[in-house]
Amino acid sequence: MTKVIGLTGGIASGKSTVARLLRTRGAVVVDADQLAREVLAPGTAGLAEVLETFGPEVLGPDGRLDRARLGRMVFGDSEARRRLEAITHPRIAARFWEETDKARVALAPLVVYEAALLVESGARSFVEELVVVQASPDVQRARARERDGLTETEIQARIDAQAKASERLAAADHVIHNDGSLEELEAQVRALWDKLTGGGQRP
Ligand code: ADP
Repeated sequence: MTKVIGLTGGIASGKSTVARLLRTRGAVVVDADQLAREVLAPGTAGLAEVLETFGPEVLGPDGRLDRARLGRMVFGDSEARRRLEAITHPRIAARFWEETDKARVALAPLVVYEAALLVESGARSFVEELVVVQASPDVQRARARERDGLTETEIQARIDAQAKASERLAAADHVIHNDGSLEELEAQVRALWDKLTGGGQRP
């Protein structure tokens, strides 16, 4: 039986690191960002619909979607955001189910849907259980600064755009605390793997 879980957390909380650790144990990881890019790639019906809705000016000179420009158009305009999501969400969901079906056929023990905005986007209903990676704001800021070279203002804008930690935790079935070392994180992921898969299918 393939179990399907969601994996989320705030910026630089450690989602990708947890996803990587689960992958090395045999999980199939589906990255929401990647699906979001795929469904609006050049030549897709999704991109055609975005151009029809938002105008040809959202197409960059390279024939790809100018994501920054589209982002500015929908930022703070909930109606525009709703129109964009009406184009992207069903397509992302379809791609997600495609990947999940493939994983089931391959008898993968676990599918992990990794998404920064999993709680906000309503994708919670895609998954059986939700894992939230939690780090304190100071640790998040330090890791984001180091990894992305973002300024304090840029980091704060990203934190503000995401669900509050309390909302994520309220939706969580499992919480991974990631203020400590990588070894401590690995131990928690090992325990989580055993809990989710019954421990019997470790490669
Ligand atoms: P997210 O995917 O949530 O944005 P990442 O997994 O990319 O977060 O982690 C953010 C940064 O912090 C990365 O550079 C990662 O290597 C580092 N990191 C994550 N967890 C730990 C940890 N327990 N100890 C040290 N560094 C960590």
